[in-house]
Amino acid sequence: MDYSIFKALNFNMEGIEAALICYDVMCQWSVHMKERVIGSNYLKLPDGLELRLGIGLFHIHGHQDTCLARYSPSFIKGGRQIDGETIETLWAPLNEISRSTRGMSTSHRREVIDDHMNDSNWKKLIDLGKFPPPSYGYRVSAYVGWVVNAVSRRYRKALSGATISTAAFESINVSASPESVEAWSAEEEYAQRERGRDVKVMDIYDIKRKQCGYNYSMICLPDIRFQSHRVQRYFLN
Ligand SMILES: [Zn+2]
Repeated sequence: MDYSIFKALNFNMEGIEAALICYDVMCQWSVHMKERVIGSNYLKLPDGLELRLGIGLFHIHGHQDTCLARYSPSFIKGGRQIDGETIETLWAPLNEISRSTRGMSTSHRREVIDDHMNDSNWKKLIDLGKFPPPSYGYRVSAYVGWVVNAVSRRYRKALSGATISTAAFESINVSASPESVEAWSAEEEYAQRERGRDVKVMDIYDIKRKQCGYNYSMICLPDIRFQSHRVQRYFLN
């Protein structure tokens, strides 16, 4: 895992300042990652490259509560709503061939599944869009004249999602006091700046709960008004 990630991070990365890496067990793998890189002759992190380590939304909800704030792409700049998966997206379509492959020998089954995965990869490649003429060096361009199907589909979806999210955020934002907004903004700026050094600073995104004992006897109190007042105070605090 170390070798494949750092080999990829050193390939064609000129001019790239940050890399978002999603891994199903990032909370475990990243614990001593820096020590392993420093102590290895074969692992190298490109100079000046910022690593943003996350766990895709497909997996993050199966982790401990603390992992959500620390590793969810929802709280990582440039990450947001991303499943962070590749192979899992093939599970559903590959299920369609399971009735054929289950009676095959191991080698035959492997070849057939490989063929279907290659077919999927090819379809993804041609769905990226048209390639510009040779004068542009065969690079995929975002120029409006070339339809970039898959990317533009996702971009349109992101735009409509951002519109809804912005409206919801603004409605909360106007109801908060300017002092709170200023304090929260400073906390967020600090967390985003320092998360590479210590991911625990991201805990500010977790739900804040006041740890206190719950007195179960109060639900037996005869005075309903008093009971509800105490229960309300418990939850509001
Ligand atoms: Zn975890």
